[in-house]
Order: sequence, then structure tokens, then C-alpha cells
Amino acid sequence: MRPDTVAIHAARDGLGEAHVPPIDLSTTYKTPDLPDATQSIDAMAAGGLPTGSSVYQRLFNPTVDRFERALATLEGAEAAVSYASGMAAVTAALLAAKMVGNHVVAVRPLYGGTDHLLASGLLGLEVSWATPETVADAIRPDTALVVCETPANPTLQLVDIEAVVAAAGDVAVMVDSTFATPVLQQPIRQGATIVLHSGTKFLGGHGDVLAGVLATNEEWAARLRQVRILTGGNLHPMAAYTLHRGLQTLPVRVRAAQDNAIKLAERLMQHPSVARVRFPAAPGCDPHGLVGRQMSGPGTMISIDLAGGYDAARNVMSTVGIFTPAVSLGSTDSLIQHPAGLTHRIVGEDAQAEGDIGPSLLRLSVGLEDLEDLWHDLASALETASPMAAK
Ligand SMILES: *Cc1c(COP(=O)(O)O)cnc(C)c1O
Repeated sequence: MRPDTVAIHAARDGLGEAHVPPIDLSTTYKTPDLPDATQSIDAMAAGGLPTGSSVYQRLFNPTVDRFERALATLEGAEAAVSYASGMAAVTAALLAAKMVGNHVVAVRPLYGGTDHLLASGLLGLEVSWATPETVADAIRPDTALVVCETPANPTLQLVDIEAVVAAAGDVAVMVDSTFATPVLQQPIRQGATIVLHSGTKFLGGHGDVLAGVLATNEEWAARLRQVRILTGGNLHPMAAYTLHRGLQTLPVRVRAAQDNAIKLAERLMQHPSVARVRFPAAPGCDPHGLVGRQMSGPGTMISIDLAGGYDAARNVMSTVGIFTPAVSLGSTDSLIQHPAGLTHRIVGEDAQAEGDIGPSLLRLSVGLEDLEDLWHDLASALETASPMAAK
């Protein structure tokens, strides 16, 4: 089956006469056969799936399991393990890495929360910051994981996953693929070991569910399930149902939003209020030629630097009508936000400077509205952002 069919039909087995999967909300499961339940709990404590009774929702839930199997299939992974948010998934991956070694190599730029978690030292991991070029030199005997993100947030820089995997050698590479979705990129094909998604974004796709998920091999999935059993942070079954449903329209949504984004980026490049457009299909933004090779298209996210600086950015945020001025992304509707003032406020000034995340930068998540309506909204807001208007 091809990806569009997989997105709709994955993990819909064993439904009996029902057309859509049921939502199982039980927090506990019957254990009338004690030896059977004990064996099952042993299997789950070792990071496996239940062999009999599911025992307790923090250990296993069939609705959550369906979403995980569907996502794993879309990513070409052996398994997936989900969490209550993207950051819970990042935390679980780092705790699972601690079972292997105490050192992590992190390639900037990363999502603000991931950057801050790594920099804070909260989890007691040693972190070496690297660029794709310096990953090989940063690897140590106790390195458990290399963390990178492509396209990166909010700069939309692309990282060559194959090159990072080669530089990492035997060390597992985790790719935050939230911006790409499995529709545009499947990092496991490039040799990555773990693929991270904030399910809050495109997978749910309607701005109404918080989630995180890691697609990976059985060895890491076992560690990740163990971490989940020990620390909680489980995905709620209602959220899992919503995500599984969201996957059905994911390919259609991503392609339609991408079509809008390609045309908006072209027009933004011509606009006098816009000093620079950061978009994987814009000139100079893809020096390694990864669009077409690693990613099937440039995606739905655009960042723009305004000629009028911070005041212009602030004016655009307060003037847009169809675009919602709000953080987050990947929803059916279009959003616009100011990374330096909002999502990346929490990261250090050095990380902001490295990513060139300045006061004039705005990040757009392009949705499914009519292209001309979106352009009219943006163009009107940009009127308030001309260097003249900002004075
Ligand atoms: C939103 C986001 C996260 C964190 O996910 P939450 O669901 O908000 O916890 C991680 N990485 C990227 C790229 C994101 O956009």
C-alpha cells in the first residue's frame, strides 16, 4: 500500500463489525487469571507488549496502541511510543538515552523547549553542542544519542540526516521531524534511529490535542516504554483516538498547505516590507539540495525577516485577521508568531544569535484557507510593516 492508503487504513485491524476503532478509557483491566497477569506485567516491565491482561493504563492501552502502530507504519519504523506532549517525548528519549550512556550531542538550532531542557542540565546528562560538521568530533565512548531537527524551528534550515548518521557512527540519531511530518520525510530511511513528532502539530492537525510520539526500532521502543511506565506522561486514549483519526487526512492536509506555502513564499519574496524569506524552496535556503532527496517538498512553514524590524513585526501580529497571532503550527488554519518574543524567548541569547533569530523575524504556519484570502490578509498586514509605517 502507498502512503495515502496507509494513512487511512493503518491499525484498523480487529474491529469486528465496527467501522471506526473504539475508544478504550479503562484505567485498569481485569486480572482473573493471576499467573497470566503476572507474566504479562513481567513482559511490559521489560519494555514489551502485554502477553495477556493489559493490567493498567499506564502500562498499555489499546486505543493508544492503535495510534502508535499507525504512526510507526507511516514512518517505516518497527514501533512507536507516545506521550502526553512533544516535550514529554523528548524527556523520555533523553532518559532512555541515559540507560545507554550519559552524554548527548545536540545539533542546533533545536526547538526552544528541547534546547532549554538540554541546556538546563535538569536530567543530569552531559551535552555537547555541535553543528552537522562537528558531530563526528563531539562523539565520545559514552555518547548515547545525537539529537537534531530538520527542518529546524524557526529558521527552516535543513540538516542532512544521512551526513549526521554517518558522522554519528554507531551512536543512535534522533531527528525531530515535526515540521516535515511522515508525508514529506521519513528519517528512518536516511538511517536515523528515532523520529520525534510533537503530535500537537500536524498529526492532530486541528489545534485541539497535545501529544508527542517517537517512532523507532524495538530495542529503543523497549527502553522508551520502560521510561513511560516509570515516569508516566502517557498519552490519553481520547487524544490517541483524535491523532489516529488525524492521520487519515495528514497527506491531503500537508500537500494542500504546502501548495499554499509555496505560492505565499514566492509573493513574500517580492514584497518590499520583507527583507528575507526563509523557506526550503527559497533561493539559498537549501545549499545541500535536500528538497527532492531527503524531503519530498519544502513544507508548510515560512519564516520572514521584516525590513521594519521589531515594530513592523509587532504591527503585523496585531493587524492580521485570518492568520491567528499564536504559537504552535500544523493546524488547518494559518498561524503567525514572533520567535524571539515567544517560542524562543526561553533559549539563551547565544542560541538565538546562532540561529539568527532576531527581533524582525516572524514565523508563519500556512494552513488550508483560500490562497488569495491568505495573501490579502498578509499583504494588508504588511502595509503596516513597511519601514515607512513603522516610523
Ligand atoms: C511543538 C514542538 C515540540 C514540543 O511539543 P509539545 O507538544 O508542545 O510539547 C518539539 N519540537 C518541535 C519542532 C515543535 O514544534
